[in-house]
Amino acid sequence: ARSTREWQAADAAHFLHPFTDHGALAKKGARIVTRAENIYIWDSEGHKILDAMSGLWCVNTGYGQQSLVDAAARQMQELPFYNAFFQTSTPPAIELAELLAQVSPPQFKHVFFTSSGSEGNDTVVRMVRRYWDLQGQPERHVIIGRRNGYHGSTMAGASLGGMSGMHAQGGLPIPGIVHIEQPHWYLHGRPAGQSRDEFGITAARWLEEAILAVGPSKVAAFIGEPVQGAGGVIVPPSTYWPEIQRICDKYGILLVSDEVICGFGRTGQWFGGETMGTRPDLMTFAKGVTSGYVPLGGVLVGERVANALIEAGTDFEHGFTYSGHPVACAVALANIRLIQRLNLVEHVRQDVGPYLAERFAELSAHPLVGETQTCGLMGAVQLVKDKASGAPFASELSVGMVCRGHCFGNGLIMRAVGDRMIIAPPLVISRGQIDELMQLIKRCLDLTLDDLRQ
Ligand code: PLP
Repeated sequence: ARSTREWQAADAAHFLHPFTDHGALAKKGARIVTRAENIYIWDSEGHKILDAMSGLWCVNTGYGQQSLVDAAARQMQELPFYNAFFQTSTPPAIELAELLAQVSPPQFKHVFFTSSGSEGNDTVVRMVRRYWDLQGQPERHVIIGRRNGYHGSTMAGASLGGMSGMHAQGGLPIPGIVHIEQPHWYLHGRPAGQSRDEFGITAARWLEEAILAVGPSKVAAFIGEPVQGAGGVIVPPSTYWPEIQRICDKYGILLVSDEVICGFGRTGQWFGGETMGTRPDLMTFAKGVTSGYVPLGGVLVGERVANALIEAGTDFEHGFTYSGHPVACAVALANIRLIQRLNLVEHVRQDVGPYLAERFAELSAHPLVGETQTCGLMGAVQLVKDKASGAPFASELSVGMVCRGHCFGNGLIMRAVGDRMIIAPPLVISRGQIDELMQLIKRCLDLTLDDLRQ
């Protein structure tokens, strides 16, 4: 076997990583992850690390699930690949489509498969525009997303998303996509005289303002993550999504719920829209559908759009070689059945979700912490310079990165979005493991505070 240094040298010589400053990476050397079990990963130096990010928000059933491995091996032997283009289909794709219809809200009877969340959201752009063309309203092509939303890295995915850094590279967004502000009470300075719930209504009305500015007859759809993930685990006030739903209904525009992170139990329901009280027309998914063991994504298509596509009388000219890949679908089937067998959705809703909320609330007492938020098994800790006013640290201090460094050094993977520390651990986590996680987080916050005091 190669040494860690040899792996790092070869990595730096040949592997261009996503979202990475390669100068900085080459100086430090990549951490080489070699194996994993349950909620833990190990690196090439033998360090055991609690993976509080589920890989990249995806390993919902945890590492080392043999039934997923067996499903992949069996399917590879029997039929490793066949496509769905030639009026052909395969048993795993059919069975998965059927099972997805069972676990999702009643309006969803159909699914379009992709290999990733980004491809799912690209599919959404073409699908909603196709839908309105079929309705005889081809001028209805504008899609509204949100600042700091994340919908993937393809041209359309990054355009729907509202990450300014991504837009700056490559001339995005593509035409016909506009953005509104995100519903974050704390970062909006806890507006004077407004409760969280009142702010939720204000934030939702920004959608109505955008619809009126564009012209209601031109707006095709609104897309959002039930809880913004990559933007920093922004849990909206409970009034926000019902008001968004009301506005979408008022103007007849399609509501798209990006369930790539929130789907498959993360929020304590099968889909985040159920937790937030929406009735989406389309839901994109990926990640947790296979617990990340193999790539799979897609769009759950509600009856309104599905019926239009089915009755169109012509092709929807869109699709991927791997749409309905039999091995990916077989793994997804095994994964969803495992979620059902282990009652993981209830485990999050009734047990570890409320427990995480209770333990996270304790962190508010820490001198660095401005606010904490959780939703199911997602959590955020906002680090601030001044607890009373919520004033942030100077960005040059990179306090979030300092804290992340302490996490890495102390056996914990936690992500930093600016100075907001976020987690999304595997759904199989136990209360005892949450206690272990909390001890690690507290230690890393203390070490960060020590650094700031020096
Ligand atoms: N949508 C959301 C909400 C995501 O968090 C992500 C990835 O993190 C994506 C879409 C893109 O998915 P993928 O990376 O599989 O293309």
